[in-house]
Amino acid sequence: MTQYYSTNHKVADATLKEAVIKGLAADKGLFMPRTIKPLPASFFDTIEQLSLQEIAYQVADAFFGEDIPAADLKKIVYDTLSFDIPIRKVDKDIYTLELFHGPTLAFKDVGARFMARLLGYFLKEERRLVNVLVATSGDTGSAVANGFLGVEGIHVYVLYPKGKVSLIQEKQFTTLGQNITALEIDGTFDDCQALVKQAFMDKELNEKLVLTSANSINVARFLPQAFYYFYAYAQLKKKGKAANLVVCVPSGNFGNITAGLFGKEMGLPIKRFIAANNANDIFYQYLQTAVYSPQPSIATIANAMDVGDPSNFARVLALYQADHQAITKDISGATYKDEQIAETIKKVYTEDDYILDPHGACAYRALCEGIRPGEVGVFLETAHPAKFKDTVEPIIGTDIAIPESLNHFLSGDKQSISLDKDYEGFRTFLEGEV
Ligand SMILES: *Cc1c(COP(=O)(O)O)cnc(C)c1O
Repeated sequence: MTQYYSTNHKVADATLKEAVIKGLAADKGLFMPRTIKPLPASFFDTIEQLSLQEIAYQVADAFFGEDIPAADLKKIVYDTLSFDIPIRKVDKDIYTLELFHGPTLAFKDVGARFMARLLGYFLKEERRLVNVLVATSGDTGSAVANGFLGVEGIHVYVLYPKGKVSLIQEKQFTTLGQNITALEIDGTFDDCQALVKQAFMDKELNEKLVLTSANSINVARFLPQAFYYFYAYAQLKKKGKAANLVVCVPSGNFGNITAGLFGKEMGLPIKRFIAANNANDIFYQYLQTAVYSPQPSIATIANAMDVGDPSNFARVLALYQADHQAITKDISGATYKDEQIAETIKKVYTEDDYILDPHGACAYRALCEGIRPGEVGVFLETAHPAKFKDTVEPIIGTDIAIPESLNHFLSGDKQSISLDKDYEGFRTFLEGEV
């Protein structure tokens, strides 16, 4: 069995099952696998002949194969990846991997679906109910709610700030019913997050209820994102473009890029990474100065990256034994203000007839500015531009068609429970649920 240690090193190792159910270690550290299994050279020799699901299964087997029987793991992987991840050429030697073809049109769909199925697998034999609490400013809530919809043994509570998410975002987690409850909090996103944090720290409550989180601190949510990097490599290898590959990742909590770093550690021939930031540039500053200095988050038009203290930074440090030089050898950074993001969306639309979303725009620009002669670059496009319609349409001066999968949410009826932002009310509500 793979053992998972805490990045704070103050508690005993956990099993995969414990790590997934707990989310965060008891000492508030993040779980990391003790061993990272390399994939054999033969896998990389023929990787371009494999399908997305076949590649993903091999990677999942390296992570979780000691803990889950092959047939069950295969089913989890294949059920998770029931949609395409196309690669497109945008410029000479610049490609995009479109990670937004899942049910909520955002890259978080894969991690959320995988985690839901893995947790469902672990809970199959048990009669206890696990409660997933998730605070959202819009996008995480929809991916998690849709990923966990109908999974037995799990109830999801999505906390969102009243009046501060777009109609289409709200519809994606308030119209589902079943095991998904939307809680409309009279406060800000920070208030929602504070409620969730306080609930996790409430000893008495945790004796009554099993609570877990579904953001990228959870190993089952962030690790499966490694699939993208192997798949990108395979697609470029097929085109004869895989040598000197640079991958650029629009980053907020750094779960996605950390999964890519795991891939590199497993032998995936990626030369280096670029972490693209918006004005929340804490990681960028760390790369320049070797000092990590968390800041309050700043609101930007790439709001899924508005993170002032990226939770997966601890995992990046753990992977590199906190060696700043080694980190800067593998990862460089970039940071862009809203005006630059908007300018990039407009330029790519005008020159290449491709519509970027604000997050992908940061990554595209960082890649174009950071790529060196002889390198081939791929940037991850993390959301469909229609999800950020209100931002993108005025920039490009034209309407973006809403894909059918988003449109069907709009016809559903909103169901949510209104709560104040005070903790006592939230706690009483949760206790009343069981
Ligand atoms: C969550 C998110 C990101 C940032 O991903 P991290 O894993 O938190 O770094 C980027 N783009 C979009 C659209 C997102 O939803």
